Amino acid sequence: MKILLSNDDGILAPGIEALYSALTRFGEVIVVAPETAQSAAGHGITVTMPLIVNRVHVRERFHGYSVGGRPADCVKLAIRELTGGLPDLVVSGINAGANVGVNVIYSGTVAAAVEGAFFGLPAIAFSQQLGEELDMDASAELAGRVLDRLIKLNGLSPGRLLNVNFPKITPERPRPIGVRVVEQSTAVMRDIFERRQDPRGRTYYWIATPDKPVPEDVETDATALDAGYITITPLQFNLTRKDHLAELASWDWSGVS
Ligand code: MN
Repeated sequence: MKILLSNDDGILAPGIEALYSALTRFGEVIVVAPETAQSAAGHGITVTMPLIVNRVHVRERFHGYSVGGRPADCVKLAIRELTGGLPDLVVSGINAGANVGVNVIYSGTVAAAVEGAFFGLPAIAFSQQLGEELDMDASAELAGRVLDRLIKLNGLSPGRLLNVNFPKITPERPRPIGVRVVEQSTAVMRDIFERRQDPRGRTYYWIATPDKPVPEDVETDATALDAGYITITPLQFNLTRKDHLAELASWDWSGVS
């Protein structure tokens, strides 16, 4: 199996290094990842600048290509120019920080996987909820087990797009308590901006960690992750609001054109 591995924390991030090691037992792993940290880059791509690619050797652990661009650039460019034909699977991560709820929209980690799904490939985004400790090797082992199971169940069908999150590790809960397949939370973050002054007396704002979103009465990726489960959410990139489609199509649009 040929696996394309990317991320949004950059090619030097511990998460991609750990995941690389966990994926090598499944086949050939080709790393193409952003040169610099690109968290919250969403599905942005680079159109007005060239994409500089460098072959890099990361801490004696792996060779890969660094790209001076966004996560989606990396996957797009990799599949078109660097992987020598289509890979069998696109994997992104492991992100340092959960990607649940509306963060899925902001996430460069998820965008890299979505880009793989654009090509009709199975794709998985892995993220680790932040806690006191961040053991990426432990999370990578869990990622390997998830992938193992998906392969056994013939779950890597074309275009299958999965968002997987690992809960934070605490002394009371050293391991996840199980796996939940759950839908994405739609609870909106109420972002907080800190208002500050720069040395020249000008006001600036810096986005801060938001309050917890409004509690939900249904189980979602956000609630299950907080409860200590590994969460798996199947995603799609067709953003069409199907229940509004028939309604709007039935309206009178005559005379507009
Ligand atoms: Mn990130």
